[in-house]
Amino acid sequence: MYIKDNIFKKILNNEINSNIIYKNKYVTAFDDINPKAPIHIILIPNIYIKNMNYVKKSNIYILGKMLLISSKIAKLKNIDKSGYRLIINCNKDSGQEIDYLHIHILGGKFLGNIICNNL
Ligand code: 5GP
Repeated sequence: MYIKDNIFKKILNNEINSNIIYKNKYVTAFDDINPKAPIHIILIPNIYIKNMNYVKKSNIYILGKMLLISSKIAKLKNIDKSGYRLIINCNKDSGQEIDYLHIHILGGKFLGNIICNNL
């Protein structure tokens, strides 16, 4: 399922409300509107990348920042010790809804073993 209007672009530009929990020069993170876990944060790059299929060599730095800040947010939210999961969906079979590269940061409860349970 694809949503044509870019909701995450609108969040980035403050055109629609969201609970932004972290922002710097490279990335923006905000609470997911429909959380699947007690902590469910969406982290996006401040430059538009549609999904993993559109990642270029020139994006390596920003991708590194996304991972670095994800771990920082996990610490800020106090889920680093208990554990958390990062998810990046790409296209239909993954269930990607929003055409804007993003990392889901999920934690705050036992999330199960995704490899054993969901494949
Ligand atoms: P995807 O399936 O594309 O990987 O994940 C999209 C995520 O964006 C979903 O978890 C969904 O709940 C979240 N989402 C969709 N619309 C909004 C919105 O308007 N605001 C926020 N904060 N999250 C949204």
